Amino acid sequence: MPGGAHGTGDADALSHALRSTSYAPPGSWNFPKAWLPGVNEALAVCAHPDDESFGLGGVLDALSTQGTRVRTLCFTHGEASSLGKTTRPLGEVRAEELSAAAGVLGIDDVKLFSYPDGRLTQSPLAELALLVDNAARSADLLVVFDEGGITGHPDHCHATAAAVLAASSHRLPVLAWTVPADIANQLNEEFNTTFVGRLTEEIDIVVTVNRNRQRAAIACHASQSSENPVLWRRLELSGHDEHLRWLAHGQ
Ligand SMILES: [Zn+2]
Repeated sequence: MPGGAHGTGDADALSHALRSTSYAPPGSWNFPKAWLPGVNEALAVCAHPDDESFGLGGVLDALSTQGTRVRTLCFTHGEASSLGKTTRPLGEVRAEELSAAAGVLGIDDVKLFSYPDGRLTQSPLAELALLVDNAARSADLLVVFDEGGITGHPDHCHATAAAVLAASSHRLPVLAWTVPADIANQLNEEFNTTFVGRLTEEIDIVVTVNRNRQRAAIACHASQSSENPVLWRRLELSGHDEHLRWLAHGQ
């Protein structure tokens, strides 16, 4: 179902809305007020099942709540994860978890591909971009992980690069979820992780999100979330805010 309460479908209105947020200093939008008016359909482009919930969950929920149709494309089944020992093939389990989490977040279409988890960079960017391109035909916004992959995971970086490449041919705007540098540094100190954060001046939008549905979506990914202290600590440090930056303005 395309469109929503705030979706006019008017290209000028969308262009104005995106321009006005692109160059504004960081500010807060109170959930569930429309914070990206005029975006009728957003496509989230992810590397692994759970990225749409652990990472983008708050943002995607905020979009679906404002009336934007939200769809997701995921390149791998996440079968190489060191978490979630099951008797069944992990890729099968994670596909089911993705489907359940999508329902919680109001995502009404999931395209799941079978590229090898952990080796996405071995697939040509142009090939992945073509898949994004096909899935994005009715979208007017792409939502991705930040260019540093958030955790530095090469699969995350490659998925985002594919989305940016696909967007460039249609002048689609690309909005990236990111983590502030102070939170990234804190996590890296506590867990010896490789989070890539952004300074305040690099962040374009701060949106206040409702974590309840994100937490419910995370719970659907039981194989990956039950023993994941880094995830819970990141959510704790992030409070109710998510941080975003434009990778492409679509102009
Ligand atoms: Zn991931």
